[in-house]
Amino acid sequence: MKRIFYTLLALLITQQTFAQDINKIITKEYVDNLIKTLSSDEMEGRGTFTPGIDRAATFIEAQFKEIGLQPLNGADSYRQTFFKDSTDKRPLFNVVGVIPGKSKSAELVVFSGHYDHLGIIKGDGQDSIANGADDDASGVTAMIALAKYYKKLKNNERTLIFVAFTAEEIGGFGSRHFSKQLNPDHVVAMFNIEMIGKESKFGKNTAFITGFDKSDFGKILQKNLAGTEFTFHPDPYPRQNLFYRSDNATLAALGVPAHTISTDQIDTDKFYHTIKDEYSTLDADNILSTIKAIAKSAISIVKGTDTPTRIPRLVE
Ligand SMILES: [Zn+2]
Repeated sequence: MKRIFYTLLALLITQQTFAQDINKIITKEYVDNLIKTLSSDEMEGRGTFTPGIDRAATFIEAQFKEIGLQPLNGADSYRQTFFKDSTDKRPLFNVVGVIPGKSKSAELVVFSGHYDHLGIIKGDGQDSIANGADDDASGVTAMIALAKYYKKLKNNERTLIFVAFTAEEIGGFGSRHFSKQLNPDHVVAMFNIEMIGKESKFGKNTAFITGFDKSDFGKILQKNLAGTEFTFHPDPYPRQNLFYRSDNATLAALGVPAHTISTDQIDTDKFYHTIKDEYSTLDADNILSTIKAIAKSAISIVKGTDTPTRIPRLVE
């Protein structure tokens, strides 16, 4: 009995120490494998309605299962299947996994990225696959790595929802469907991650947040990173309207502090929406440091000690 007790205690202490060490949970190897697989030629650019996006969804589901996420609202699958409209018979699917909150389970925090991309496009004679490594295999990779981290950390008082959106590139259908599956008033914050594969305009260990002034979400994240080498900045490209161009827009319009985190230099990114958006053009260290910064900066929202201010509702 006694021996069992001490063995258990030793095991608990080991788990606890392990759980605290972000560098052991989110490793470069882990992150590289995710992004390389999602942006591989085998996924054929993850075009909506293609076999390639189906393979990507299957891969994301396998990651969620291995991490130990639950399906949303008692569903029997991570796939949230729907149709673009009443006449279109081709299924679309988001991939959604959950870590239930410990004491504030009705309060939801969403982490997301879109896993669809352009598929096969006009090529250069040798290549025609738009791999979408930065856009947005990098964001989906971050979302999965954050799920792994928070599952190990086990201190989320709030319920965490991890979602890979479909059909962003053809009109944001995935995030629009997702927003109707829950009460937006219960969503405390949304961390949408788009294109974190290359160094931002502000240099190494930096990222920007769209709609920075619309809530105090960004200020909370900045506070949690104080003393680290990483900094978050307001979106430097306001004229690009990025806040309304990604999957955060639907929930933001419903009042949720829903923001996109990115490092893309959108005004000069020559690989954007081309066949050259491949893993080989990315900066692996930038991806890793940005994911870890999001993991640390979100912690008080995950634990339920900080609640960002709401964004004025645009639609009823
Ligand atoms: Zn994108």
